[in-house]
Amino acid sequence: MLKILLVEDNLEDASFIQSLLKEGLHNQLTLHQASTAQHGLALAKQYPLQAILIDVNLHQELGLDSITQFIEFCPGTPILILSEVENEELALEAVKKGAQDYLIKGQITSGGLCRAIRYAMERQRATQRITHLAHYDHLTGLANRGLFYERLNSAVARCNRNDTAMALIFLDLDHFKAINDTLGHEYGDILLKTVAHRLKQCIREIDTGVRLGGDEFAVLLEQILSVEDVAMVANRILQLLAKPVLVQQHQLHVTGSLGITIYPWDSANPKELLAHADAAMYRAKAQGGHNYQFYTAGMKTAGLDRTTLEVELRRALNKQEFLLHYQPQYDLRTKRVVGMEALLRWHHPYQGLINPKQFIPQAEENGMILPIGEWALRAASKQAKYWEKQGFPTTQVAVNLSARQIHHGNLPALIQDILIQSHLDPENLKLELTETFLIHETDETLQTLRELKAMGIHLYIDDFGAGYASLRYLKSFPIDGIKLDQSLIQNLPHSTSDAAIVDAVISLGKKLGLQVIAEGVETGEQMAFLEAHACDVIQGYWISPPLPALESAQHMVHT
Ligand code: C2E
Ligand code: CA
Ligand code: CA
Repeated sequence: MLKILLVEDNLEDASFIQSLLKEGLHNQLTLHQASTAQHGLALAKQYPLQAILIDVNLHQELGLDSITQFIEFCPGTPILILSEVENEELALEAVKKGAQDYLIKGQITSGGLCRAIRYAMERQRATQRITHLAHYDHLTGLANRGLFYERLNSAVARCNRNDTAMALIFLDLDHFKAINDTLGHEYGDILLKTVAHRLKQCIREIDTGVRLGGDEFAVLLEQILSVEDVAMVANRILQLLAKPVLVQQHQLHVTGSLGITIYPWDSANPKELLAHADAAMYRAKAQGGHNYQFYTAGMKTAGLDRTTLEVELRRALNKQEFLLHYQPQYDLRTKRVVGMEALLRWHHPYQGLINPKQFIPQAEENGMILPIGEWALRAASKQAKYWEKQGFPTTQVAVNLSARQIHHGNLPALIQDILIQSHLDPENLKLELTETFLIHETDETLQTLRELKAMGIHLYIDDFGAGYASLRYLKSFPIDGIKLDQSLIQNLPHSTSDAAIVDAVISLGKKLGLQVIAEGVETGEQMAFLEAHACDVIQGYWISPPLPALESAQHMVHT
C-alpha cells in the first residue's frame, strides 16, 4: 500500500491522476488529496506519506514555493512536480528546491507515473543513506565530527537566541590503546560500540552524542540549568563506563576522562569551546583518569594541552630535559637501603620541574612513552653501574614500565641491549609493572615476562591494591614481589580495614615467596606497623623523598 498525497486544484486533472495511479498501482494505494498547499501541509502533518505530487500551478500560488515547506515537514518523502506544459526552467528550479522529478501531465502514462514515483522513493532512500554515512560514525552510529561541528554551531546560535546555556563534554577513554594493542582491534571495536551505547543512555533526546575519532567522544548538552545537572550527567557517564564489558571470556575494564566546558559561562567565544573542553579533559587524565573536570581559567596556560604536548615531549627528549630522581627502598630487617626507584622528572624550560603524572598518561596515549621509557631504562642502568663503580653498597635500581612498552616490539631484546651497553648485572635491575595492564593478560605478555625473568631481571607488581587487585596474578605471573599501594598505607595503623588488608597481603606474599614492599610510608607509626607485620621493605617520605642521584646516594652511605 503506497501512501500518496496529491496537491491539485484542478478537479479534472485530479481525477485523471487518481485514475492513473489506481491503474498503475493496481489499487494498492491510499491517496490523500488537497487543492491548496496549505491543506496539503495539514494532511502531511497528519498522515505518514511515501510520496507527494504537487501541481505547479495552484490557483494564485506557485506550487514550487511550497516545496521547501513540505521538505521541512516530511524530510524523507520524495516530491514530484506535475505540470501542464514542458518548461525546462521551471523543471530545473523545482529540482533545485528539492523536488525529485518534474512530470508533464499530457505525456504521462499510468506505468510511467508509477515508475517515476518508485524511482523517486529509491533515490530518496539512497540520498538518505549517503547523508547518514556522511554524518554518522559507521562503527558506533553516533554523530561524527562533521555533524558535531554543525550541531555545535546551531546550538551556540540557539543559546544566543534564547539566552540559554549548554555544556560541551569531551570524553577520552583511559588506556584504550593498551586494550587495542593487547587484545586486537576486534575487541577494541566492541568496546567502542559499548561505550557509544552507554553514552546514549546517559543523555536526553535533545542532546548529541558524538564520536570524534579513535577513542574520543563528545557530548553536547543543551538547555542546561545548573552546573550540578551537568556534573550529574558526567557522573552517570563515568559510572556506566566503568562497568566491566564481557567480550567472549575476557572481562574488559575501561574508564574515561571527562573535560567539561559551559557556554557561555566559561567563555562567550564559541571558538574557544573545543580548546577548553580539551584542556579540562587533559586535567582529568593527569588526575589519573576516571574522573571529570570542569574547565577553569588558566588550564590552558598550564601549556599541557594535547596538541602541543606531543611536540613538546619530542623536543624535551632531544633537548635532554628529562631526568631521573631516585627514592631509596629500605629493608626493615637488615636496616639498609637495598634499592633505588627511578622516578621520571621533566625539567621544562619555563615551567620548571614537572611531575610524571602530568605527562605520562598522555605519553602513553600518543606513544611517546616508548622513547621516553627507553631513555629512563638506559639512564637508570647507567646510574646503577656508576654507583657500583663508586663502591656504594646498594646498586639495585627499580624502573617503572608502561603497558605499551611491554606490548611493543621486542622488550627483552631492548633490555638485553641496555644491559650490554651499561655493563649492569641483570640481577641489579628491577622492573615495576602496574596492575592495570596485567588484567589484559595474554600469552604474549606472559611470554615476555618469562623471558625477562629468565634473563635474571626482577619483576614487581606496582600499586598493588590500588585498582583491580587480583590475587590471581600473584600465582600466574613470574614475579619476585609486590608493592603495596600508598592508598593502603596512608591510613595505617588507624584504619582497621586497611590494616587487615595489609596484614593479609603480607602473609599471602610470604606464602608465595614474594618480597613485599610498602610504598608511601610517611610516618614512624606506619613503619612500626609494617615492621610488626613482617613487611620486607618500605619506601616513602619517612625514609626519603625522591631526590637527584647525587643527593639520594647519601642514603646508601648513612644507612
Ligand atoms: P609510582 O611508581 O607509584 O611512584 C611512587 C610515587 O609516589 C612517586 O610519584 C613518588 O614521588 C611518590 N611518593 C614517594 N613517597 C611518597 C610518600 O611518602 N608519600 C606520598 N604521598 N607520595 C610518595 P611520582 O614521582 O610523581 O611518580 C608518579 C608515577 O609516575 C609513578 O608512580 C609511576 O607510575 C610513574 N612514573 C614515574 N617514572 C616513570 C617512568 O620512568 N616510566 C613510567 N612508565 N612511569 C613512571
Ligand atoms: Ca613504581
Ligand atoms: Ca606505586
